[in-house]
Amino acid sequence: MKVTIAQTAGFCMGVSRAVNMALTASMQGGEKPIYTYGPLIHNPQALQFLNEKGISILKNIPKTGAGTIIIRAHGVPPSDKKKIEKAGFNLIDATCPRVVRVQTIIAKYRKLGYTSIIFGDKEHPEVKGLIGCAGNKVRVVNRLSEFDNLPIFKKAVIVAQTTQNLYQFKQAVKTAKTGFPHYKIFNTICDSTRKRQEEIKKLADSVDAAIVIGSYNSGNTCRLAEIASQTGKPSFHIETETDIDFSLIARFKLVGVTAGASTPDWVIKNVCEAIEKNYE
Ligand code: SF4
Repeated sequence: MKVTIAQTAGFCMGVSRAVNMALTASMQGGEKPIYTYGPLIHNPQALQFLNEKGISILKNIPKTGAGTIIIRAHGVPPSDKKKIEKAGFNLIDATCPRVVRVQTIIAKYRKLGYTSIIFGDKEHPEVKGLIGCAGNKVRVVNRLSEFDNLPIFKKAVIVAQTTQNLYQFKQAVKTAKTGFPHYKIFNTICDSTRKRQEEIKKLADSVDAAIVIGSYNSGNTCRLAEIASQTGKPSFHIETETDIDFSLIARFKLVGVTAGASTPDWVIKNVCEAIEKNYE
């Protein structure tokens, strides 16, 4: 069996940047203890690695405290930043610049009286941060049918969670352009997500089966797995090499591997090596 790896597999720019910022704070004398506010990224193996470097996860912001809190790549509502600083922590903001762009668009149009329509998962931390920028005029929709059920707004701006499914967002945009030409629309799906989603479609066409590596609670990995399965090729979402069911993949000659934006390189390498070793 041969394995081919997608060029886009693994850490995106925003995740690399956040992990590097956390490691730099830990190694170069950042004010201790060092916390991330919530998991820095959605990957248990990477979080274990950070924990070994003395970077732990803070679930709630205490009223007072000391040390450093790192804001994760997904960003947070502006009110959380204020709480962190008020509590006395040193704040390092590792929000991905591409998420900052969406926050900035929402904040700008909020001031102009627009309702923000966010195409995304309302339980995802990035979307919670975006909601926090939008004030009380905000709607979150996760599928076209939900968008169709919204009331008509006098002024609305449409944005997407950066890791949304591009195809579904484009469908919503098509509907919006026809039905509500007065809405402002920004395609804020990040380039890294777009390229990753496009590549898995092409890759699936050229292999016998696709394997998507990444945390089961990583939104962008789950969407990659969803896109891979929609191609009709057999596809498997796994977190590490221990999740591979060799009896299910034994019949394939060529397997394509991709990984979510928060999957570390060493996890991808371990998966590929485990497959190659099993079939050498
Ligand atoms: S997926 Fe895109 S927006 Fe999200 S952290 Fe990575 S580069 Fe930033």
